[in-house]
Amino acid sequence: MTNKKSFKNWLEQFNLEHPLVIAGPCSAETEEQVLTIAHQLKDTDTSVMRAGIWKPRTKPGNFEGVGKIGLDWLKKAKAETGLKIATEVANKTHVDMALEADVDVLWIGARSTVSPFIVQDIADALHGTDKIVLVKNPVNPDLALWLGAVERLHKADIQNLGVIHRGFSTYEKTRYRNNPEWQLAIDLQNEFPNLPIIVDPSHIAGRRDTIFDICQTALDLNYDGLMVETHHTPDDAWSDAKQQITPEALHQMTIDLRIRKEKGEEVEFRNKLNTLRTKIDVVDHQIINQLGKRMKIADDIGALKKKNNVAILQTRRWNEVLEKMVAEGRENNLSEDFVIKFLKAIHEESIAHQHKVLTD
Ligand code: PEP
Ligand code: MN
Repeated sequence: MTNKKSFKNWLEQFNLEHPLVIAGPCSAETEEQVLTIAHQLKDTDTSVMRAGIWKPRTKPGNFEGVGKIGLDWLKKAKAETGLKIATEVANKTHVDMALEADVDVLWIGARSTVSPFIVQDIADALHGTDKIVLVKNPVNPDLALWLGAVERLHKADIQNLGVIHRGFSTYEKTRYRNNPEWQLAIDLQNEFPNLPIIVDPSHIAGRRDTIFDICQTALDLNYDGLMVETHHTPDDAWSDAKQQITPEALHQMTIDLRIRKEKGEEVEFRNKLNTLRTKIDVVDHQIINQLGKRMKIADDIGALKKKNNVAILQTRRWNEVLEKMVAEGRENNLSEDFVIKFLKAIHEESIAHQHKVLTD
């Protein structure tokens, strides 16, 4: 991708002292609902009101959005509050209608980003637009696919681009609705430092109580903004009820979040240190999770050995593991001494796990 610098310009038009806040309901439901939320958001740090008009639902039969009429409600909200408006587009018809309604920010949803055909159709329909276009990460953790979508839009002469990090589907149950995989977003930032990145804590969390922490991690990683699903009566929302918060809660959250302003050498130093520490936290989190997975496998091995009456400790196998890992450690700049100590600790825990299975 060329001309990386042109990415960030559109953020400046908001002239903000804090990260960009995009907020609003998962779905536009009624005119009254859209207007009520808009007026409540007007008293918060929100610059852009979001609302889904066409809703991609996992299963048919759920509420699939109010369609075109919702654009009239959003237009009205904009006229009454001065908030900019945003909605998801998934095909050329959506794009044409959204442009016609003068929607300020269009986003491509996670289920569309996975398909280069869909992204190309949207890019063609948007060709040359000066609207802000944001690309949600694909549902699967594939950085190339995410960036490929951004590149298609960039090639269609769309300058005001950004990405939304909404987490990734996993088959395994995790504490998140969509696993954040922060490392992937960090890699994206490293590759395109000027591409604005916005966190969507609502779809990552899937529930209200972890939204704050997800926002804080994102801000510590220098994200440029938040997109938070917000509803005046969240429990009654027609979609994603569990993860929506009230405009009042959003307001309180933006007060409580530590927001870093890059001013002064000392502050800049602390900000950089903080970002690096957050990156370490992300990796530590991965290490602990991987260790947990490793121990579960050790439990399975324990059960298998028990069934087959085989001894726990198998020296030859252990020596092979050590040798391989010491070599890999060397490639990763880790001393032999450290790798051996680390593996021994893991091995001990692993044997304890197997032992427990054998004696249970
Ligand atoms: C949404 O923003 O309401 C939405 C459907 O998001 P996603 O594409 O991230 O699932
Ligand atoms: Mn939603």
